[in-house]
Amino acid sequence: MAAEIRIFTCLNDNFGYLIHDTDTKATASIDAPEAGPIAAALEREGWRLTDILITHHHGDHVGGVAELKARHGCRVVAPHDKAAKIANVDLRVANGDVVKIGNLLGRVLETPGHTLDHVSYVFDAEKTVFAADTLFSIGCGRVFEGNYPMMWDSLLKLRALPDDFRLYCGHEYTASNVKFALSVDPDNPVLQARAAEVTKLRAENKPTIPSLLGEEKRANVFLRADDPDVAAQLHMKGAEPSAVFGELRERKNKS
Ligand SMILES: [Zn+2]
Repeated sequence: MAAEIRIFTCLNDNFGYLIHDTDTKATASIDAPEAGPIAAALEREGWRLTDILITHHHGDHVGGVAELKARHGCRVVAPHDKAAKIANVDLRVANGDVVKIGNLLGRVLETPGHTLDHVSYVFDAEKTVFAADTLFSIGCGRVFEGNYPMMWDSLLKLRALPDDFRLYCGHEYTASNVKFALSVDPDNPVLQARAAEVTKLRAENKPTIPSLLGEEKRANVFLRADDPDVAAQLHMKGAEPSAVFGELRERKNKS
C-alpha cells in the first residue's frame, strides 16, 4: 500500500492536494477550490479522480466540486452538515468515520471553530493529516463560526497526533504566520529555524508545506497556548489556555 501526494496552487493562495493510491489507482482531491488546476494536475499524472474529500463549506474549498463531479463522476465526501451548506454530496461523514480511497484509509477528525462543520482527514498509515483551515503551518485559521475554546479543543486534537505526521493545510500563509509568531515568541530557536527555512522556500517559489507536526508543536505559538512561557509573553500568567489562545488569535487578526 503506497500513497503519492501532489501539491499545487489553486485560486490565490489555496493549496490543491491529490492523494493517490498506487495499488488501486484511486485518487482523491482534498477540497476543490477550483476545477482547472485540479484537472490539470490529474492530467499531468495520468490519474483519474475517484473522490473529493471536503473539509468545510467555504467557497474557496468547494468552488470546483460541481464541475469536477460532472466531469469525472467522482464521489463527493463532506462533513455531516445539518444546514446542508454543501451541494452535490454523496457521503456525509462525522467524527471517527473512515473513508476509503482505494486501499487508503482517511479517518475523519471533527475540528470545528473556523466553521462549525470543519473536519480534518487523517491518513494514519501514511502519517499524514489534511487540516485545511484549522491548523496552518505556524498559524491557525480564523475563528468565524465557533468560539475560542472550541477552536483550541480542535487544535489539541491535531496536536495529539504523532510528531512524525506531516501537516498539509489549506493555505500558503506560512510567511505571514512566521512574522506574527516571531513578534510574540522571538527567542524560540525552533521557530527561528523554521523562519529561515520558510524565507528560503518562498524565495525559490516552493510551497512551505508539508511541515512536520513535531516541529509545529514546538514552533507554532497557537499550539502552545497552554505553555506558561507563552502566557507570560502575553502577560496572562495563570489564564485558561483557551483565553491565551483567543488573545493570540485576536492579535493575529489585527497584525
Ligand atoms: Zn475556510
